[in-house]
Amino acid sequence: MAASGTVRVDHAVSSGTFSLDGETHQVDNNLWVVGDDTECVVIDAPHSVSDILGLVGDRKVRAILCTHAHDDHVRVAPALREEVVAPILLHPADRPLWELTHPDRLWDVDLSDGFEITVAGTTLRALHTPGHAPGAVCFHAPDLGAVFTGDTLFQGGPGATGRSYSDEDLIKESIRAKLFALPDDTVVHTGHGDDTTIGAERAALGA
Ligand SMILES: [Zn+2]
Repeated sequence: MAASGTVRVDHAVSSGTFSLDGETHQVDNNLWVVGDDTECVVIDAPHSVSDILGLVGDRKVRAILCTHAHDDHVRVAPALREEVVAPILLHPADRPLWELTHPDRLWDVDLSDGFEITVAGTTLRALHTPGHAPGAVCFHAPDLGAVFTGDTLFQGGPGATGRSYSDEDLIKESIRAKLFALPDDTVVHTGHGDDTTIGAERAALGA
């Protein structure tokens, strides 16, 4: 394992569009890749396979982990799967959203609360956090002191719940029950925008 280097988080920003309920918005999505010099997992597959491969390099991709199935998070997941030959993991409650973008093909492995995947000796644990989307999940990496929250928790509060398949009460309960159970110094890597911490967001929400 030592020859593979230490586990790290690589990040870039990829630009494109988000469409739902008949509206299209220009969006910047964070790309997150967790691994060492040999292998990695990709968290979300927004707009561009080449942007993602720029972070992956020549490493083996073990899995494509989807925080939820909005099109700005899964649009190139099938194309990336073909390119790197890795399974796509998604919570099945997001099937209606997935089918809006990919009506003719499915993901490979169902995520569930507590699902664990290990890459480069580090475990990522899925936390089912419905609200922004019914199948929204966050990925907690205890060894890294980090959680990847997709669009469930941002710097400045919960993700949007104004569109179809969203639920404001549910996202607040998910954040309270699952994310605020994590240590305050846990770094929050979000789907859009800057990092934050669990402690900062807990304080901001008065929770
Ligand atoms: Zn979203």
